[in-house]
Amino acid sequence: MATTADITVHVQTDALLSVLLTGRYRLIGDENCGVGIECLDCFDGGRPLGYYDSGLGPYSDPQVVNVDTIPALLAVATDHETTAHGPEGDSVDIPGVPDSIPRGRVIELVQSLGLDPRELVSFEIKGRSIEAVVYALNEQGGRYFEGDGPRAEIAKHRISIPITDASPSEES
Ligand SMILES: [Zn+2]
Repeated sequence: MATTADITVHVQTDALLSVLLTGRYRLIGDENCGVGIECLDCFDGGRPLGYYDSGLGPYSDPQVVNVDTIPALLAVATDHETTAHGPEGDSVDIPGVPDSIPRGRVIELVQSLGLDPRELVSFEIKGRSIEAVVYALNEQGGRYFEGDGPRAEIAKHRISIPITDASPSEES
């Protein structure tokens, strides 16, 4: 039977360093003494990519990779970096599309829709609507959890703004 010590996780030092230095990843502890690793660029409503289970129970969301060693937790980040942000990804260069966009421009866009950028989880422009997910706020203006125990999730609202063919001057 394999013990934890028998399980070797192969993480290339160079790859790991370059991943950690992207500034994209964040470790976050929870009340079960576990540690999650999150990708800030794919920040999925607070759901971590991987979760180090301290023994009090794994993360119940099936999309989260549960691990029981720190190297395995870091390997989740290196895997994610190659699959989601690696050069072999499906990202292509299109002339006229900038490599990056200043954060201020994005904030202006979000604010023009009446949304608070600090409470924004995700934002998607579709053919017929703009779909946004924002954190739900309690009466004190703070975020709160829905559900119990490991299944608890930060409460969120989904917002759909239909796109019409009205000219901008007709908007109310
Ligand atoms: Zn990511």
